[in-house]
Amino acid sequence: MSDEPVKMLHTVVSLDYERPPTQAARVYMEGIRNKTLVGHRCSECGRTYLPPRGYCPVCVVPTGEADRVEMSDNGVVVTFTVIRPDPKVSKSLTERSCRGTIMLDGSSVTTMGEIKGVDPEAVRTGMRVRAIWADKLTEEDTALLRGGWGVAGIRGWEPTGEPDVPAAEVQKMTEAAQI
Ligand SMILES: [Zn+2]
Repeated sequence: MSDEPVKMLHTVVSLDYERPPTQAARVYMEGIRNKTLVGHRCSECGRTYLPPRGYCPVCVVPTGEADRVEMSDNGVVVTFTVIRPDPKVSKSLTERSCRGTIMLDGSSVTTMGEIKGVDPEAVRTGMRVRAIWADKLTEEDTALLRGGWGVAGIRGWEPTGEPDVPAAEVQKMTEAAQI
């Protein structure tokens, strides 16, 4: 062994973080329990955030109770992917499915989810859809607040049966979409 003093030590550590929900997150989850999407609209630029972040990252201003807005749970499919599992590769995923990006009515907010209640091959851009709400929330819904794929409390999106939104309008919507 060397007599030199230890200068560096390589080791593995595990840290658990507890992050209490923000006021905005609590209001959002309360909305979800009532099958309502609650967002915040920035008073300066008009951008809407879902879930609400408690601030607008573009204007760098706080958003709060006064900026609360109820968002529609209906929207339009703006992009989608049909998943066709290869049985040689996937053991758990066997059925074809479709995942899409939905732009909610009356906003430039997009959200993601599985499109159900229709043959995945029949999904198209411009299709009108509505949220399929969960009857009961789970830990996964709470986890979605910290990030992930989908919207807490919503199990997917299904066609409303209304006429499709024309392609030119969908194009305009996606151009207006916010990050
Ligand atoms: Zn703003």
